[in-house]
Amino acid sequence: MCDCFKTVGERMKQRLMEKVPEGAEIKKGFDTGWENTCLSLSSGDLIVMLKYKLAYRANKKDGSPAKNLTRMEGNVTMNHCPFCGEKQE
Ligand SMILES: [Zn+2]
Repeated sequence: MCDCFKTVGERMKQRLMEKVPEGAEIKKGFDTGWENTCLSLSSGDLIVMLKYKLAYRANKKDGSPAKNLTRMEGNVTMNHCPFCGEKQE
């Protein structure tokens, strides 16, 4: 598999780091890095996901619209790298 996520991610981090104040703590984990990726348990590679969202306002029992929206989402795995087009396993 290609290493686009690593190389493009490093360039992106470098660019953003130029605006980080000196001495600031860089958070790791879900706060820093690519969004909409998951780790493939079989290959250990990052897989790109495309998120689809849907929001709706249900009706209450009296027929009036609910105050809050109900939100749903689902992820679809991308078959190819969005940078170079290589097939993702
Ligand atoms: Zn690639």
